[in-house]
Amino acid sequence: MQSIFQALEQAFKEAGRVLTAAHIAPDGDAVGSAAALAHIALHFGCETRILLDIGRGGHPVLTLPAPVVSGCAELEGFVPDLVVFADCGDAARAGAEMQPLIKSGGFPGTDGIRPLIVDIDHHAGNPEYGRINLVRPERAATAELVGLFAEYLGLPLSGGLGEAVYLGLVTDTGNFTFSNTTADCLGMAARIVAAGLDVADFTRRADNNWSLARMRLWGKLMNSVTLHAGGAVSCCLVRKEWLDAAGLGSEDLEGFASRLRCLKGVRVGLFIREEAGRKCRVSLRSMSDFDVRRPAALFGGGGHASAAGATLNVGPDEAARILLKELEAELRNQSISRGKAGQRSRRSQQIKIGEC
Ligand code: AMP
Ligand code: MN
Ligand code: MN
Repeated sequence: MQSIFQALEQAFKEAGRVLTAAHIAPDGDAVGSAAALAHIALHFGCETRILLDIGRGGHPVLTLPAPVVSGCAELEGFVPDLVVFADCGDAARAGAEMQPLIKSGGFPGTDGIRPLIVDIDHHAGNPEYGRINLVRPERAATAELVGLFAEYLGLPLSGGLGEAVYLGLVTDTGNFTFSNTTADCLGMAARIVAAGLDVADFTRRADNNWSLARMRLWGKLMNSVTLHAGGAVSCCLVRKEWLDAAGLGSEDLEGFASRLRCLKGVRVGLFIREEAGRKCRVSLRSMSDFDVRRPAALFGGGGHASAAGATLNVGPDEAARILLKELEAELRNQSISRGKAGQRSRRSQQIKIGEC
């Protein structure tokens, strides 16, 4: 990792203008990593922009250290010579606008200006699309890699930089409860706290900020959860009109998919969000005994063994039907579904698919 850090340091030293970016529909690791990288770019004196689709209201937890844009049009002539993608497992995840840049190297809206591309990520299967690639699937969060780079540079993980890294760590480890919670990432969290992060204050800003409408929607969703495959799969879907009627957005659903694992006996949680234009975003969650990457990959998605996602061009009921069928088959295939599996699969055949 040292030689990659050296190359990365050199890239920041030589850059005048830096764009940090992350995957579409950014989660806390994406936002935290892009923000932490912006702090690093500013440390090098670079003019910096952050490409993140987080809406106009800013981020509820982090104060972003540089102007945030949701698309290239908002860059208003700012052409970076260094673009750092964080938490972005492949070109498609970078969004439609960034695909030509990743695939052919020319920055959108320019006459083929070719910035240096860096890929920092922790998704297995990342094709290493950058000129510099720091891809480590064993790391809990991309923010952990960014934190290690900051420490390599001698920057303390304090203030906004520490908060940004911490947001990535807590998001991707489920507050240090998932199987990716390593001693290394806990050690980094400890260093952030030692450098001054107020954990209770951070939690108040990050978690204790729900609207009543959000809590009521979660209640409605929890009421509608269904069980399938003899209780091994829990499923919930949210219709767009429910969100619209409550004035809520997809950020209000962050964390819901993981709650679907809480039910006793459930191995896989399936959460389906209807989006505009007959499209659905699907989230799959398991504990480490069932690999959800495979069913996600069948629909062009990806992610991690215990948290993966995909987008399907069908309505939510159809998405549920297709995925439940696939998950049942996958449960039968993956070896852990042996033991009581015979009993489970017989029962699952009696459960009507599509009641989700
Ligand atoms: P989500 O369910 O959206 O929170 O995503 C869980 C994990 O799967 C994250 O690591 C995402 O980056 C990844 N992921 C989600 N959707 C996709 C997709 N369409 N393609 C590839 N990876 C995805
Ligand atoms: Mn992410
Ligand atoms: Mn991540």
